[in-house]
Amino acid sequence: MPFGKVVELLEDARSAQVFDINICGGEPFLHEDVMRVVATASRSGFGLSINTNGVLIDRDAARELSEYDVIKNTQVSFDSHLATIHNSTRGAFASAYAGFLALVEQAGRRDLAPSVGIVLNRLNVDSVDDTVMYFSQHTSRFHLMNLMNCSPLACTRQQRRVFNEVMLPRLLDISRDRGLQISSVTKRDLGAHKSRFGEAHIDCLAGYTSLVVASDFTVYPCDVAPFPLGVWSTRGDLMRIYERSRSLWAARQRPWCYDFVDGSANVPPGDCRGSFGGSRCEQEDGQGR
Ligand code: SF4
Repeated sequence: MPFGKVVELLEDARSAQVFDINICGGEPFLHEDVMRVVATASRSGFGLSINTNGVLIDRDAARELSEYDVIKNTQVSFDSHLATIHNSTRGAFASAYAGFLALVEQAGRRDLAPSVGIVLNRLNVDSVDDTVMYFSQHTSRFHLMNLMNCSPLACTRQQRRVFNEVMLPRLLDISRDRGLQISSVTKRDLGAHKSRFGEAHIDCLAGYTSLVVASDFTVYPCDVAPFPLGVWSTRGDLMRIYERSRSLWAARQRPWCYDFVDGSANVPPGDCRGSFGGSRCEQEDGQGR
């Protein structure tokens, strides 16, 4: 994404009354102008968040992110506190941890530190409580996500059962003892996992409250469902694409990603709510995949 086009896209987003921007990837810090993008988005008044693997963040970058007050809205991905596990899936644990610590240092307070995103898989799911405990010395916020079912690394059915019956209550205890927010473990305690969106006609607001713009400027309802809504090119496109998206969303009977189940794209239903214990997929096929 050339910087000039990103600026134009941000201006178009402002005109379309977008208020939150999430910068993600791939890895956003591979983009040579990422800090200029952050600066531009921040000065434009967007609520800004960043997802990163932390590998390319040094003290200077952390200082700059602190100036834009974006560290508390940054999420660093770790698959484990154990280098052997993290490196077997993501690699570069030492660099990622150094980047994370640079952000923690700049944040100055645990509740202002970046959150830790953990994608649960068959290698890390049995020790995720230890991972949360380990990182809780630095941060109070965690985001657990479920790996898509198509991956060979996806948890086994037995692991899911043990997670739901044993690990979830344990994580809940840890979150209470240590004052943590662990999405959506805390929500689960409130019973909110049944339907996050309450009144919505489908349990997914992608394409209605949010859009994803890929690096080639193709716009999707979310980063899982390969449903191209249009290609952003110039000012005014975002609103046009959004209006199309909104009308398609209103006519849908199920989330976008379900269109690709068993299709050639081989995309399974997404567990976008980040809840490993999320029940939607289990309700859909009755098999507790
Ligand atoms: S993965 Fe599916 S359910 Fe989740 S946001 Fe995307 S379309 Fe909606």
